[in-house]
Parts: sequence; structure tokens; C-alpha cells
Amino acid sequence: MAVLDIVTLPDKILRQRTQEVTRFDDELQELIDNMIETMRAASGVGLAAPQIGRSIKLTVIESLPEVDEEGNDIEGTRKLYVVANPEIVWTSRKEVDGIEGCLSIPGYLGEVDRFDAIRVRAQDRQGKKIKLRVGGWTARIFQHEIDHLNGVLFIDRLTEPENFWTEEEFDAMKEAAEQEDAPPSRRSRGRKV
Ligand SMILES: [Zn+2]
Repeated sequence: MAVLDIVTLPDKILRQRTQEVTRFDDELQELIDNMIETMRAASGVGLAAPQIGRSIKLTVIESLPEVDEEGNDIEGTRKLYVVANPEIVWTSRKEVDGIEGCLSIPGYLGEVDRFDAIRVRAQDRQGKKIKLRVGGWTARIFQHEIDHLNGVLFIDRLTEPENFWTEEEFDAMKEAAEQEDAPPSRRSRGRKV
């Protein structure tokens, strides 16, 4: 396995619509393993193929761990998804604000509205058809990654143009927010996807 280079803005591949995955061969299996390793090496929770320079409908996603009452990660509760040719077939009515970052836009964070839950039709790494229902942060990661496959970035979906910060600005704002009664979404730092 190998850690791949991550493509960042303004690389045009990030703005292209991707091609369907049609061959689930050894080359694809190796690419998937390398994408998983690259995502983990970058401490990301998701990675889409255009982010490593391949314009195909493929993404790897690793959900956040569940936490116990003291806020510690519960071992074995992270879930890894390998998703090819995903299509969102249902969305919840409820939308939620959250802070997102992107491995292809390093150093920045923004506030984005996402559906609280979605259903996705896709194929697994062997090409088998799958249906998934995901909610919360996992649903957010899925929506961010599926956007990548359509050339869409989180900066296109900011709740307000000014809700976009450098990591330093965000940390300063978060510190200030802890002193007052700010919305919870402003108090937790986003994850990179
Ligand atoms: Zn991203």
C-alpha cells in the first residue's frame, strides 16, 4: 500500500464531473487500499478519487467513533465504507449546520448545511449493489464526498459567504464562543474530508 499525493485547489480535476467505475479489477482494489491509507495518514474521515487525481466515482469514508459518557472514543465503533457510483435516493427533511474542512482546501473551515440523514444506492468494492442509510456526521461525510464526484466543493455550499475561516480564525472564534451562548455547531471544530 502507498500514501498518495492529495490534490488541492486550484487543480481543475476537483471541478470535473467524474466517470462511472465499470471495472472492479485488481488495479481498482489497489487504488482503494491506497486511498484508505492516504485518508488515514492525513487524519481525514473521507477521501474522494478526484482528490488523488483520478476522475472516477469512487470514495472511501470512515465514520467517527462513538464516544462514551466521558467523551472517550469507544474502540471498534468506527466504520469504513468503500463506495463506488453512489447516488442519493432519499434525504431527510431535517437539515443541520456543521463545520467542515477539506483535505483539498487545507487550512480553511466553513459552515455548511447538510441533510441529517440520507439513503444511498451504490456499489461496494467488488461491484456488488448496496443500499445504505446513514445519519449524523456519517451522512455529512457522504454528502461532502458525493459532491466531490460532481466537482462541487464545500465552499460552494457555505451557509453565508462570511462563514468561512482560516483554522486560526476559527479557533479564536471558538474560544470566544465558549465564553457566551453561541450555537453548538460553532464550538466544535470540523473534520477534514
Ligand atoms: Zn473534501
